[in-house]
Amino acid sequence: MNDQLKRIFGIDLGTTYSSIAYVDEYGKAVVLPNAENQRVTPSVVFFDGDSIVVGEIAKECSKLYPNEVVSFIKRSMGESDFIYEYKKRAYRPEELSSYVLRKLAQDAETSLGEKVTDVVITCPAYFGINEREATRVAGEIAGFNVRQIINEPTAAAIAYGAAEPSEKKVVLVYDLGGGTFDITMIEIRIDSIEVICTGGDHNLGGKDWDDRIVAYLVQEFQKTLDTDEDILEDPDTWQDLQLSAERSKKILSQRDITPISITHGGERIKVVLERKKFEEITQDLLERTVVFTQEMLQEAKAKGYSDFDEIILVGGATRMPQIPHRLKEEFGSEPKMFDPDEAVAKGAAIYGWKLSLNDGLAIRIADKSIKGMDHDSIIDLTPDLIVKQMPQEVADAVGYTIGAIKKSRVSIKDVTSKSFGVVVRNPEDRELVYNLIVKNTPVPVDVTKAFFTAVVNQETVFIRIMENESKEETVFLSESMEIGTAILKLPNGLPAEQPIEISFKLNEEGRLQIAAVETKESSSVNVAVETKSVIHGKELDEAISRNQSIIIY
Ligand code: AMP
Repeated sequence: MNDQLKRIFGIDLGTTYSSIAYVDEYGKAVVLPNAENQRVTPSVVFFDGDSIVVGEIAKECSKLYPNEVVSFIKRSMGESDFIYEYKKRAYRPEELSSYVLRKLAQDAETSLGEKVTDVVITCPAYFGINEREATRVAGEIAGFNVRQIINEPTAAAIAYGAAEPSEKKVVLVYDLGGGTFDITMIEIRIDSIEVICTGGDHNLGGKDWDDRIVAYLVQEFQKTLDTDEDILEDPDTWQDLQLSAERSKKILSQRDITPISITHGGERIKVVLERKKFEEITQDLLERTVVFTQEMLQEAKAKGYSDFDEIILVGGATRMPQIPHRLKEEFGSEPKMFDPDEAVAKGAAIYGWKLSLNDGLAIRIADKSIKGMDHDSIIDLTPDLIVKQMPQEVADAVGYTIGAIKKSRVSIKDVTSKSFGVVVRNPEDRELVYNLIVKNTPVPVDVTKAFFTAVVNQETVFIRIMENESKEETVFLSESMEIGTAILKLPNGLPAEQPIEISFKLNEEGRLQIAAVETKESSSVNVAVETKSVIHGKELDEAISRNQSIIIY
């Protein structure tokens, strides 16, 4: 690579599979194979004594050592009560995910001969503050400089826009991965990607289709052997059925029928699963995605977008034929399958490439070292503008092709998938959440709103920062989740009804900062919302040093 530009890698940290990509000198996003020569790596961690095994081998080991193998970690990202215990040590989801990230980076380093230091990691658009922060921390534990967390559908749209450029197109990105479903409306132009609206379900993915097959197999076992034993209580059988279910699901994407054998307690039976039956037992899951899509379309309509040009399918689970079939039936147009396993990592890599070029240009502008450019005239230009106005000069300066430079021009505008507010009391003295930022608002966004103290001589204002999914300005407390708190100390002797201004600032990657000001004597408090459910402080330092000393296979 050109040694003056720092490479920024794109990582798709998936529920079931993960992958890593970079942009080559010609501007092409390339997924790097792992040590097993596969382009996607199962996001599965096997604790094998003092070492850790990640990927296909870990997945295979889940049969033999079900208690030492952890899968579907992403579904627990940002949850404080998820703990995996091994040899009396507790591991949180961010630390477990850091092993997956390390494995990806390690193998990429071997294949490319270059160290992975800076990364862009993707997460579902649906992720809230806690889950996003946990994803970032996972990267930090793995030793990366996490440059940005971007949304998976946005990354897929970046890859799509780069692969099939068009003047203007409104697309629906239907993203069904292993554990999450995101539906996003995006306007793609030659040099911009603008997210209009997003929706989805954090807990709906290919894994749920697997679980339905597992439940069906249990039933068939019970019926055939005339027993009511819950065979899933046996961890070996549970793991075995999970693996067979996923395998059968994939076969049914190609064929109409698949044989499955179930072995448990010395008995072995054979079940034949037809695609028709599989579609029948999973119909309601598919319908849930249609309902989420319709809901999102209603919100888009309210924003003036009543139509779209194409449906793009990403995520491995969209390979199930019932998905395009049902979407065509509902929306009339034939959905397009777009690089379902790699689009997200590639889009993240293209985004990383843009950041890396901007960094490189910023340094060169500062030290006036871009050959062939009049530095007095470019000193006031941003790297973006320089790339736009002088692509050939930039290409010559950094040693990439002009095609690669043009690919970096994409500008991204995203929206927040959650609403954020504070707890207030209404005139009936009932606690409610007042949303300052409502979901599907473009980010970055900065909102200030005045609230009032309740009593004479109030000493403090206790601010409870809440996250929810409502589109309304006020929401019941029970429909919101507390993500942080702050205390504003007030000066003595204030009357009641004193205005307090609260500001919420949400950046492009979903990080929230709040400020509160008492306007009379200007006492103030600033809080970067520190999510309680994510490792921090000493626990984080320990996880980082543990990570460095562990060997990952
Ligand atoms: P992703 O998170 O995008 O890697 O998607 C992973 C999900 O896609 C898992 O649930 C896989 O079982 C599922 N998947 C991958 N390939 C296929 C296939 N050919 N047919 C059905 N599901 C698949």
